[in-house]
Amino acid sequence: MTRILERGQIEAFAERAIARVRLPEREQLFAARAARLREHAAPGALGHAIADYLLLMAVLADAQHAALASVAATLPNEEQVARARAHGMPVVQATAWPREDRWRGVLRRLCDALAGDPALSGGATLPGGVREVLDRLRRAEPQALERQAVAILAARAHEVDIAAAPFLMAALQVCWVDLASRLSSDAADPVSVPGVCPICGTLPVASVVPTNRRSQGQRYLHCALCATEWHLVRVTCSHCQSTQGISYRSIDNGPEAIRAECCDACGTYRKILYQEKDQAVEPVADDLASVTLDLLLAEAGFRRGSGNPLLWQSG
Ligand SMILES: [Zn+2]
Ligand SMILES: [Zn+2]
Repeated sequence: MTRILERGQIEAFAERAIARVRLPEREQLFAARAARLREHAAPGALGHAIADYLLLMAVLADAQHAALASVAATLPNEEQVARARAHGMPVVQATAWPREDRWRGVLRRLCDALAGDPALSGGATLPGGVREVLDRLRRAEPQALERQAVAILAARAHEVDIAAAPFLMAALQVCWVDLASRLSSDAADPVSVPGVCPICGTLPVASVVPTNRRSQGQRYLHCALCATEWHLVRVTCSHCQSTQGISYRSIDNGPEAIRAECCDACGTYRKILYQEKDQAVEPVADDLASVTLDLLLAEAGFRRGSGNPLLWQSG
């Protein structure tokens, strides 16, 4: 017998079939990011002008991958999940969820990995005063690191040590990716504040249009902290939710997979990555490497919706 679906049922099916939230895959996330950063740093590639920085961040992402394998923090219990859902709050909110002391152990591990990496330190000094920053972080008092973590997680850029922030952020990312990757996607109800990560409440770094079966042609915002991706209808400003006055810009003769979604209503943009044009797109790496696009957009009078977690600018 053939079943015929009413129009409303078809839409309900489609709604259910689309993955609303994509939680990070801990075995792949940082390894894929490291590989993509190296790809962008190669001669003739998009980010070659900032190759030293991209390669440093690639070593950092390798160290994050290694550190994540041995991190397993306490997950929220059923009551905490239920309470967050009832209040429309992110379940492991970055500014409220207790950071176990081990995040500073992760930071230490990342700093040691960078300082000891033969490709970076091999006889020469690390780029741009990095060794000095790493030494400063290794010597820092726990209270000073905690104050920096608070400022970074709350995006209070004027309080952030911008040279140290990528390394601090990298340690915090390891801890939140650990949490997000072990949660059930049921924990990610829509939150009452639009435009923030439903798991941790952080702003997205960029968005991505994947090609896999459950999310084909849909657009997802990618969290700068926990790497969770959540659905947002296409041709919508990820900053002010306007659906009017949205335009797309890209680098002349640049990669087709990276564009900027610009909003006339609020004057901001975020980059959007198309996996159908390049299977290897990775939001943090591609956003960082396409700094040329940021320069073009600044000239056109647009400002970023939010920063890149691996590159901080003074408030
Ligand atoms: Zn998040
Ligand atoms: Zn807008």
